[in-house]
Amino acid sequence: MSKKSFDECYFTSIHDIEVLDDIVTYVERNYGKLGKYENSIFCPECRHAELSYVHQTSRTRAFLRRKFRTVHLPGCSYNYEYSSPKFSKEYYELLTDDQIQDKMASMMRSLLRDSLDNGENVIQASNTVEVDNPLILEKEQNGQQIRKSLRRKKLSTWLDEEIAGELHLFYGEVKLKVRRIEKTNEAGESYFYYFLDIFCENKNREWKRKTQIYRGAMEDSIDENQIYYFVAVGNIDFSNSFPRLELSNKQSILFKAIQ
Ligand SMILES: [Zn+2]
Repeated sequence: MSKKSFDECYFTSIHDIEVLDDIVTYVERNYGKLGKYENSIFCPECRHAELSYVHQTSRTRAFLRRKFRTVHLPGCSYNYEYSSPKFSKEYYELLTDDQIQDKMASMMRSLLRDSLDNGENVIQASNTVEVDNPLILEKEQNGQQIRKSLRRKKLSTWLDEEIAGELHLFYGEVKLKVRRIEKTNEAGESYFYYFLDIFCENKNREWKRKTQIYRGAMEDSIDENQIYYFVAVGNIDFSNSFPRLELSNKQSILFKAIQ
């Protein structure tokens, strides 16, 4: 199985998800020691496999990986190989638009739920992994059920060419903006096409444009002041001047205003 790293983890002291960036900052301030995170960080999905922190080097970023001899629960998507962009395209082609949107909605529920607010919820959540896990793509191939998992990437963290060509489920809390481009066709008539720009808040609490999605003739209805929960499956193309998120399917995107 290919190595898997984690952008976030389940941190037992807070009974909630902790992001890698916060752990890196803490470790730096704590003179390179893991401190409160020692033996307390687990798979963000099944919360069963224990993770270890791998320090940054001059060439690699710090990351989290599964500890040797600890396992993910059955049903955790981290048990499976990552899906390629081709596999996910084929997978989505077998579903109706509504089915894809339902999958996107359950991805959003599993990754972007509100902070767990009471102990009861925590215990229930930690003992179950969804039977129909939205982070697993399942497709029949030569009479066999093939399961692949989705790499996931929080949009507020680093995005660079290291992930070019890799399929991801991108998610996070974002601001959105529609950009309209006007063109003229051969008959001299003007027409429009649209980009959806995606902004994330950085550590200085500034909203910065991270990526964009080509929407063709579709003009999304957006409130630019609103913060949205956002999920999209695809890969990022870095070959142009600004990274562009290429969706696996035109339906593999969902955003919802945070109330
Ligand atoms: Zn797991």
